[in-house]
Amino acid sequence: MPINQERLVDEFLTLVQIDSFAGEERDVADYLRRQLTRLGLNVMEDDAGKTIGGNAGNIIARMPGQSDKPTIMFSAHMDRVAPGKGIKPVIEDGTIKSDGSTILGADDAAGIAAILEAVRVVQEAEIPHGSLELVFTIAEEGGLYGAKALDRSQLKADFAYFLDSNDEVGAIINRAPSHQNLDFTFYGKAAHAGVSPELGINAIKIAAEAIASMDIGRIDHETTSNVGVVQGGVATNIVPEVCTVKCEVRSLSPDKLIAQAEKMITAARNSAARFGTKLDLQMTDCYSAFTIPESHPVIQLAVKACEAIGVAPQIKGTGGGSDASILNSKSLPSVVLGLNYKDAHSTRESVAIADLAKAAELVAAIIKQA
Ligand SMILES: [Zn+2]
Repeated sequence: MPINQERLVDEFLTLVQIDSFAGEERDVADYLRRQLTRLGLNVMEDDAGKTIGGNAGNIIARMPGQSDKPTIMFSAHMDRVAPGKGIKPVIEDGTIKSDGSTILGADDAAGIAAILEAVRVVQEAEIPHGSLELVFTIAEEGGLYGAKALDRSQLKADFAYFLDSNDEVGAIINRAPSHQNLDFTFYGKAAHAGVSPELGINAIKIAAEAIASMDIGRIDHETTSNVGVVQGGVATNIVPEVCTVKCEVRSLSPDKLIAQAEKMITAARNSAARFGTKLDLQMTDCYSAFTIPESHPVIQLAVKACEAIGVAPQIKGTGGGSDASILNSKSLPSVVLGLNYKDAHSTRESVAIADLAKAAELVAAIIKQA
């Protein structure tokens, strides 16, 4: 099953030169609709764009196949982070990077290009296959919004592969944590800092005492927490009236997540109580933990495909969320596959052409071995 490396690289370079951003995926979506239609697939676009206020929906393309084989979904996301417009890719020593002024967008154009190339190879070589469902999502970055808006009842897949991890090609991510955001708003009382400070209550100090009594960082081997944003105050001569503190907790164990979140909330409440002030709390469940057992066909098939192309399979967990977290919570068994892109979300982002080719080969092998 020879990958056409030149075609694959051309596809990748074309994709990253089409501007895309979360909520602004229209041009990439239109491009993919044309490419997928040209490949003879049935293409539709859902109304996720309307739901989230974006200009494109999730693209779902179907390729019918033998009914005695599982229906497999492959997915990658169309959006990118900033600075991701006007990308000028450069090839140097077998590695593709940007010109240094933007990200490269291998996250996740590498996933899209690998899926397209695999479908082309399977068609050219007339490899017998089961039905395929290709899903290209919007607004993964910053909230997994496209996957959240995806109508599970529209999907026919038995299981799914998300091509979207900086782990090596061969990595099969079968575990990810739950993630909850905690946004605290501490209220003090404004006063002139020089004339009458005793009339004020310093909201930043209330927040600081709360944070000082929180355990953050790595809590245990399954749990992490962070205080990520602190905002408050207007000027040095005003006792600050409001201070907001944005935190997160993640854990592979839902019970541990709740326990850690409760400790942080208690720390905040205790501090506000000491000052006799009001505290607001907004809790957001971003996504839920999942663990796919190694005996599951989604993993067994990926392992078999890795071995068929001479790549070492590595079944492992991650501390991050992805579209797979959302689809698992919608009862579609999903794992994430490694693409080995480097320094994603930075202007140093790069991907080796050899890894792009390996990823495409792996997708084709999964289709073939199913
Ligand atoms: Zn990504």
